[in-house]
Amino acid sequence: MDMTCIDKIDEYMEYELTEKRIRHTEGVVETAVALAKKLGADPDKALIAAKCHDICRKWDDERMNAFVTLNQLGDAYIDNINLSHSKAAAHVAKVAFGISDEDILNAISYHTTGRAGMSLLEKIIFIADATEPNRDYPGVEALREALEEDIDKACLLSLQGTRDYVLSQEKYLDDDTQEAIEWFEIGAPTEGYPKKKEKEEDDEFDFNNLDLTDLMMF
Ligand code: FE
Ligand code: FE
Repeated sequence: MDMTCIDKIDEYMEYELTEKRIRHTEGVVETAVALAKKLGADPDKALIAAKCHDICRKWDDERMNAFVTLNQLGDAYIDNINLSHSKAAAHVAKVAFGISDEDILNAISYHTTGRAGMSLLEKIIFIADATEPNRDYPGVEALREALEEDIDKACLLSLQGTRDYVLSQEKYLDDDTQEAIEWFEIGAPTEGYPKKKEKEEDDEFDFNNLDLTDLMMF
């Protein structure tokens, strides 16, 4: 794995993120690398994806909404940093840090929503984000306990928590989260799971084709 991107990522993090967010990121790195070693994923890929996952978390609304509009992510992503920061981060990872590994980019892109058919690396980043040692919210201990036992069980529990929270707040629930829940509920099969629901052509999100040239700030 080419690790020459690490210095650039660290520099960007220093510039873009708060102390607290950097601590969170370090916690995700630590948790994700340990999980990768334990579960047989590539620890270097886990490290890179974890470092990148929240790099756009502190973009202001103006910048993020411009990104969302420019890349036609859909109205649900406007004023919704919780969803958009993952997609922006995957793109920055690609264009600014030169990361081309699809699994790393997907792990970054789906770290908030999850999705049906998640790879092992995607699951690791998703659950490391939710359970890293600095996390403190109701239910986090149950997630950590589930994770000791089975990563799929922990991912399902976390996704259900997200769904329940989002719906209780009457906010938008991303299709990917609902589809991920259904997929984990049938045992997260590696093949033969129901394909994504048909979406309008315009709604299809492909971060490989995003254009962020005007938004890059170093
Ligand atoms: Fe995040
Ligand atoms: Fe995070």
